[in-house]
Amino acid sequence: MKLPLTYYGDPLLRQKGEEIGEITPEIVQLAHDMIETMRASNGVGIAAPQVGKSLRLFIICDEKVGPDGEILLGEPEVILNPTLTAPSQESASMVEGCLSIPGVRVEVVRPLKIQIRYQNLKGEWIEEEATDFRARVIMHENDHINGVLMIDRTSEKERRRIEPLLKKIKKRYHRNG
Ligand code: ZN
Repeated sequence: MKLPLTYYGDPLLRQKGEEIGEITPEIVQLAHDMIETMRASNGVGIAAPQVGKSLRLFIICDEKVGPDGEILLGEPEVILNPTLTAPSQESASMVEGCLSIPGVRVEVVRPLKIQIRYQNLKGEWIEEEATDFRARVIMHENDHINGVLMIDRTSEKERRRIEPLLKKIKKRYHRNG
């Protein structure tokens, strides 16, 4: 089932998500609904707070190389209770978008590599080093479960540029905002 999205201005997007204990059928269902919602919105990632759940759960899509060398999106992966460590000194700048901040794209500088330890939907713990696009999507979504948005990580100049757009989003989605 496609879930309604939460938008910039919703206090839920500023909360720290709760750790997931037992992986109940409800959590499994939520993960599948989040995948459906992400696909319907053409996203490459989605975090639980973006569908109104303050939980440490997000979905990512990595890139993969297709048969003709083209870049395709891989299968969605479910990430539970992640811990990110050892960000690389080396960083990169890339333009990001966010399903909760529609129509806004900003340059964000992030480390090129990160270590992540997380649980999959079976409850197995996995540890890996993520790089490039994968690392970026992980860091963007991990920010969401800590109440951080991409607009917090952009330059002053970018922030000033998008301020009118942010105001519009608040007006559109939150009548009293
Ligand atoms: Zn986002």
